[in-house]
Amino acid sequence: MKFRGEWIMTNIFDNDIQSLAITDTVKNLFYTPFSVVIEIDLEFVPENLKSIILYELDREYRHQNRLKPTKVDFDNNRNIIALYGGYNSDLQKTERMVKDILIKRRINEYVAVPHAERQDKIIILKREHSEQQGIYHCRHCAMAFDDEIQLSAHLRMHYFI
Ligand SMILES: [Zn+2]
Repeated sequence: MKFRGEWIMTNIFDNDIQSLAITDTVKNLFYTPFSVVIEIDLEFVPENLKSIILYELDREYRHQNRLKPTKVDFDNNRNIIALYGGYNSDLQKTERMVKDILIKRRINEYVAVPHAERQDKIIILKREHSEQQGIYHCRHCAMAFDDEIQLSAHLRMHYFI
């Protein structure tokens, strides 16, 4: 006879395996083409930089999700880039991708931050506007800080390496 605790343990274990299998099946069935849509707001980005960001983003996104059907759309009227597909893509990953593009193309005056009200949205702001809202970005690696003191402590690390 099994102890009650042991019985519960094996049951939890079995259920975990089952739910993992179900989650995978559900993902394959429903999440492939439409799943998560992440938006990038270019409202404050000047025209000449929009095409550069769009080009790089399209390239990078396809590269990162090369085994999945994905789509990168740009809505000119709303100034929104929408990233479709890639069910395991999340906002932090997308934010990092946009930050890396800004660094790579030396777009120093703009920074990528999560949208204040929307969980599925990144917004690209002028660096000074972001700082007015209390978000300070490192110019070298785009890490974000709450104030200039933390940022300057972080910057010293770059200079000493
Ligand atoms: Zn840094």
